[in-house]
Amino acid sequence: MINVTKTYLPNKKKYKSYVDKIYESGWVTNDGFLVRELTERLEDYLNVRNLVLVSNGTSALEVAYRVLELEGDVITTPFSFVATTSSLVSNGLNPIFADIDISSFNLCPENVSRTNTGKESAILATHVFGVACDIDALQRQASKRRLKVIYDAAHCFGVKYRGKSILSYGDVSVISFHATKLFHTIEGGAIILNHDNLVEETKFKINFGIDGVDSVKSLGINAKMNEFEAAMGLCVLDDIELILEERQEIADFYFTELNDYVSFQGKSPLSNSNNSYFPVLFENKKICETVLCGLNREDIFPRRYFAPSLDTLPYISGGQFMSVSRDISSRVMALPIYPGLAKEDQIRIVNQVKKCLVKNEKN
Ligand SMILES: *Cc1c(COP(=O)(O)O)cnc(C)c1O
Repeated sequence: MINVTKTYLPNKKKYKSYVDKIYESGWVTNDGFLVRELTERLEDYLNVRNLVLVSNGTSALEVAYRVLELEGDVITTPFSFVATTSSLVSNGLNPIFADIDISSFNLCPENVSRTNTGKESAILATHVFGVACDIDALQRQASKRRLKVIYDAAHCFGVKYRGKSILSYGDVSVISFHATKLFHTIEGGAIILNHDNLVEETKFKINFGIDGVDSVKSLGINAKMNEFEAAMGLCVLDDIELILEERQEIADFYFTELNDYVSFQGKSPLSNSNNSYFPVLFENKKICETVLCGLNREDIFPRRYFAPSLDTLPYISGGQFMSVSRDISSRVMALPIYPGLAKEDQIRIVNQVKKCLVKNEKN
């Protein structure tokens, strides 16, 4: 069975040697030595400052909202993983959707400019599938309207924008290190702050707001990464160049083979691609479903990333209808891409996609 992704498991011996160290020290969580080591190595590799490791990408978003003191409405994208929207709602914030750009699938700055509830405090944009948003235009909007900017950069490990890590943009960027992501710590994530003065507060807020033995400074949550997760991250980071290379090779192959058959997501000219996903777009929903069924019959399981469009969620109040996002959601699919995906499987995947498309044409 081939799924859309497969968790990268590094050398077992190496992981065990970290586990031995954890046992020797007896320190398993709460800002342990491996969490500190991984923080330093990630800041170094990604070339960012103010990176705070957390328990997952969703808690990274939640802590970011608290640290930036968001309130009221947040302008956001309807085309992302459900956590982008659900985290707002669970923190008492109201998602106001602006529709996406039909080429990049990212939040469209012009649509952002049309939102006007009078209660907006921030823009929350996802660099979806690792493709950069129009950062300059979003920042201009935010500056003009005094809005904070948060980037859900869950898919962006290793992506650069204008030669700098994409994680260094916005007031805050957050990333997920879930097992299904390109770089992972089993469960985990990080908050990257563009304001030095917010780092200390963030560290309190991921640990219940505690700032001393008998002292609680502010309202926080539990969002700490543990040592076993940090150890996984250290091992995966050792192999990151190989991971990126293999993904690039698979993406190149898919691109060459399928170029005449499907459409692709538009890339940003200011940015590189990490191939964290390989989304393909079909002409309509019916064709998309035909291909999906055809692949499933071969035991291949791509995912309909991202369906449903987030403006259709049951906890979103009516009246928000994002037609571009709904359209893209209905006919996009992410093909399997991960290190270790055998060449013969890649060939099987593209052949099956082509076969379904040709058959569809004949019908
Ligand atoms: C994976 C993901 C998240 C959530 O991250 P977790 O670590 O699973 O909590 C948030 N946003 C996007 C866009 C994601 O893909």
